[in-house]
Amino acid sequence: MSRTVLVVGEVRDGALAPSTAELAAQAATLVPEETGRIGFLAGPHAHAAAASFGALGIPRVRVAKDPRIDGTAPAPLARAIVAAAVADRVSLILLAGSSLGRDVVGRVAAGWGAAAANGATGLEWEGSSVRVTRPVFGGRATETRKLEGDRVVVSLRPHAFPVREFASRTPEVVPIEVPEIPAGLLAPRRTGTVPAAGGSGPGLADAAIVVAGGRGVRSPENFRLVEELAASLGAAVGASRAVTDAGWRPGSLQVGQTGRSVSPQLYIAVGISGAIQHLVGMVSSRVIVAINADPSAPIFRVADYGIAGDLFAIVPALTAAVRRARGLPSPS
Ligand SMILES: Cc1cc2nc3c(=O)[nH]c(=O)nc-3n(C[C@H](O)[C@H](O)[C@H](O)COP(=O)(O)OP(=O)(O)OC[C@H]3O[C@@H](n4cnc5c(N)ncnc54)[C@H](O)[C@@H]3O)c2cc1C
Repeated sequence: MSRTVLVVGEVRDGALAPSTAELAAQAATLVPEETGRIGFLAGPHAHAAAASFGALGIPRVRVAKDPRIDGTAPAPLARAIVAAAVADRVSLILLAGSSLGRDVVGRVAAGWGAAAANGATGLEWEGSSVRVTRPVFGGRATETRKLEGDRVVVSLRPHAFPVREFASRTPEVVPIEVPEIPAGLLAPRRTGTVPAAGGSGPGLADAAIVVAGGRGVRSPENFRLVEELAASLGAAVGASRAVTDAGWRPGSLQVGQTGRSVSPQLYIAVGISGAIQHLVGMVSSRVIVAINADPSAPIFRVADYGIAGDLFAIVPALTAAVRRARGLPSPS
């Protein structure tokens, strides 16, 4: 049975977001025939960014040029995705598991009459169905779901799927006409964005490496040890709630139940005890390293590598070693 998969790309700063490469690689695993893979983009930068699909093994891209679909409001975006799925007789739609993607999945499922799942970390065909695995209960269990029917829409958890190299080519870009969009769906539009406080470096949501600090650093001044280690690794900075509640760093850096959920390739927890409310936000990270003075701290139960010792000795030594290994100059 020939299948067609629609890869819904996201545009950040005018270019395809890194998550789109993960979707495209997984699409190629599921549908080896190139002609069965179609890209999708919406928003003001869609046309310019569409060419980048050519390096992701996707020969054809649907672009919603309707200026009312700006790529940030989920309801009109979902309408456009459904229009593309119908036009191209798509059987599977893949989206990034970003906050926008997770929102759009439910709307597409309702508008297209599809089975749906969010946050997949595994995805394969099982006969005519799609088998999805994903962490549940804050990562303490893995759920398997069988999505039946000839229409399925799934968002993929960031960093859960490897990217692949493809021969580069120029994709065909085809506009998609979107039928009427009720005024009510257009109403809640984003009128501006303010970057979260939290310094330079990659954002928590996208970062492949996160270095997070907890109360063990003892003061806002000492938190710079965490930031210096993060900078040496090109990592995003995270924090426990003890740190954000104390006002040492802004709430936007908080990881956990009432903060952000992250699943980077590498999560380094510095002076964080590993309370369950923190763990639910990071336990699905691929590799977890914990640095804590207390060998019985709960964080060590989820850590792949643990260093039981004083962070004030370990973290500067680690930062210096990383900088040396990466050929970076010593900080002045
Ligand atoms: C409803 C609710 C929601 C919550 N949501 C969140 C959330 O989203 N995120 C979150 O993080 N928490 C959350 N919490 C709080 C959570 O329960 C913990 O209180 C918090 O995570 C503790 O932060 P911590 O690990 O930094 O501090 P602590 O628990 O105080 O741990 C500090 C750790 O540092 C270690 N340490 C001390 N000195 C050193 C040293 N010199 N070298 C190395 N290690 C050292 C200690 O051994 C200790 O393990 C929530 C709580 C509730 C009730």
